[in-house]
Amino acid sequence: MTDRYAVIGNPIKHSKSPFIHREFSKQTQQDLNYTAELVDLGQVKKFVDAFKKNNGKGLNVTVPFKQDAFELADKLTERAQRAGAVNTLSLSDEIAGDTTDGVGLVNDLSRNHKIIFKNKRILILGAGGAVRGVIESILNTAPAHLIIANRTIEKALTLKNIFSDLGSIDGCGFNELNNEKVDLIINGTSASLSGELPPIPDNILNNQATVYDMMYSAEPTPFMKWGQQQNAGLCLDGLGMLVEQAAESFYIWRGIRPDTKPVIKKLKETL
Ligand code: NDP
Repeated sequence: MTDRYAVIGNPIKHSKSPFIHREFSKQTQQDLNYTAELVDLGQVKKFVDAFKKNNGKGLNVTVPFKQDAFELADKLTERAQRAGAVNTLSLSDEIAGDTTDGVGLVNDLSRNHKIIFKNKRILILGAGGAVRGVIESILNTAPAHLIIANRTIEKALTLKNIFSDLGSIDGCGFNELNNEKVDLIINGTSASLSGELPPIPDNILNNQATVYDMMYSAEPTPFMKWGQQQNAGLCLDGLGMLVEQAAESFYIWRGIRPDTKPVIKKLKETL
């Protein structure tokens, strides 16, 4: 019987994960079946139990179930514990939870775009689930300093406290950014979803800085356009992160690392 995998969410229709994982399985000649499954609110545990009985070996978890997945896992990796959320479940006798968004972001920037984090000043906008999921991986790259700026300052300060033992990190509001200079700025707010730009001051970018939006779309996002106006060295969207986090999940499940570059290219053509 073929091993089954799926992404669960609500809504889930627009998920790119089935496309990505099918490309990975073709490329690595792994015999598996990967689907997108719509799960009703409050029904995650029931779904996971039934999926497991039906030869389900692993699940990706997206909005709004990352917290539910965290709670139902029998064991968690350290990075998932700190992130407070799970996007990858491995199903065997026990249910193991992990999070691959942080690795996905760092691998996209460092491997695909050759961005160096070490000793750089990095700014992340937003303090929601996506940002919490990537902070540990960023601090593991030894940046000089990481600033978390958020509309609701308290959330940025909470994240600072959760991760402060891992490196130099600060939390603040957008209006405290006026005298900052950074080498890399990552938009982890959901502002782009509604075509908005977070209130970032001009002239915050160092020479040849990188601007990265976790959001992706066929056209450059408002944040990427802002980066272009500010003469950033590179303006990128989050499509590579999406594929890289999927590759890390695939590796957790199958022990094989797929080549992400052709899949990113192919996915871009479908947008
Ligand atoms: P959350 O709802 O958990 O958090 C949203 C964040 O955005 C909060 O910090 C919120 O601030 C802030 N925000 C919302 N609207 C605005 C605005 N108009 N101006 C300034 N700040 C704003 O969302 P997630 O963290 O789950 O997702 C954030 C983004 O990351 C989404 O665009 C999502 O698509 C993307 N993402 C991409 C991934 C990828 O693989 N490429 C993976 C995961 C997420 P406040 O706290 O004040 O409300």
